[in-house]
Amino acid sequence: MEPRDFPNLTVLQHPLVHDKLGRLRDAATSNKEFRELCVELGMLLAWPATADLETAETQVASPVGWATAKTLVRVPLLVPILRAGLGLVPGFHALMPQAHVAHVGMYRDPDTLRAVPYYVNLPDDLFGRRAFVLDPMLATGASAVAAVDLLLKRGASITDLRFISLIAAPEGCAALFAAHPGLNVYTCALDRHLNNHGYIVPGLGDAGDRLFGRGAGRVPETHGLRST
Ligand code: URA
Repeated sequence: MEPRDFPNLTVLQHPLVHDKLGRLRDAATSNKEFRELCVELGMLLAWPATADLETAETQVASPVGWATAKTLVRVPLLVPILRAGLGLVPGFHALMPQAHVAHVGMYRDPDTLRAVPYYVNLPDDLFGRRAFVLDPMLATGASAVAAVDLLLKRGASITDLRFISLIAAPEGCAALFAAHPGLNVYTCALDRHLNNHGYIVPGLGDAGDRLFGRGAGRVPETHGLRST
């Protein structure tokens, strides 16, 4: 499938994105450089994904005179899906230091294969709030669909939500847009397909392991459940 098959999917086309994504995919890239690339790609994704944030005019005094400036009207919300979504927070925070962060954790139910939230600290009322759901890998789309469901249940509007990933699979895009056709999704690449283990091909491997080290922080496994 091609990006044009998904009208609300933006695939970044920029030499810097291509260069950084190649280094991110490389299995020889260290955890340290992987984290740094996630920050940089997070900033590059934040740029188009925030282009229509609402602003209000204000006056500031420069050393030479009064200038009309524009400030953000509302505090944006970042919603990283644990654990790999944390890797995109610093890049977004670099451009929007005022953004609040609300975490969502999911595990995959081994029987239904559905994503089940095990940790949700979202604000109670998301009416009118611009929120950016962060997950580097849009693979099956199960956690993405469940996370967006959670935000909508708290009063967010689908037009105020943005889903941000580094790499997307066609299967994940199809599932996410089937559940939420009005959602806007930003990614750096639309890859070929998922393999039998649910990994994106060619992808970059396990984003959480590459950010934090193999086996780090796999909370659900201690309960005999698989991490999504
Ligand atoms: N999660 C990952 O970390 N990598 C994939 O390829 C798919 C899901």
